Amino acid sequence: MPDKSATSETAETPVTTNPETPAVPRKIYPIVKYGDPVLEKPAKPITKFDAELEELAEDMFATMYAAQGIGLAAPQIGKSIRIAVVDVTSGKNPEAKIVLVNPEITHGEGEKREEEGCLSIPGFRGYVVRPHFVTIKAQDLKGETFEIRGEDLLARAFCHEIDHLNGILFLQHLGMLKRDLIKRKIKKLKKQGEW
Ligand SMILES: [Zn+2]
Repeated sequence: MPDKSATSETAETPVTTNPETPAVPRKIYPIVKYGDPVLEKPAKPITKFDAELEELAEDMFATMYAAQGIGLAAPQIGKSIRIAVVDVTSGKNPEAKIVLVNPEITHGEGEKREEEGCLSIPGFRGYVVRPHFVTIKAQDLKGETFEIRGEDLLARAFCHEIDHLNGILFLQHLGMLKRDLIKRKIKKLKKQGEW
């Protein structure tokens, strides 16, 4: 999820944004934008829980913080695999870092309509109805299954990121008029070479 866009200038720039191990330079990935087919296809389940996956998760956090987002799913860095990272504190609290591998929503409750954005659709926002509370079943980086409950913004971030892993963008939750308007504007930006 949201907010400001990452530019390709940040790509490959080693920075230290991981609050737990500030000495390790992380890879900052370029963020894939709307129009790339990787964003609209279901990602593959992860079966290998190794050091490489741990590195990827840390690089995803670094990429997300650099882009000032609160969630990032692997398809957004061009990898069609089922892993997403979430931190609704934007790096302020290291304990708020959540890695979801092969996540599933097992329960949703209530409804909340809030404005939402996406790092892959920079500059555009829209109101999306999401469950107020959700329960997620996922695996951690070691492959252990766990359950986590989210409320409000955290519930929204979980739903948004799991949508990404299923090839669904928030645009698909908007009304047709709003969705078409955004798509038209993006088309125009593409023509101008600004997307
Ligand atoms: Zn998104």
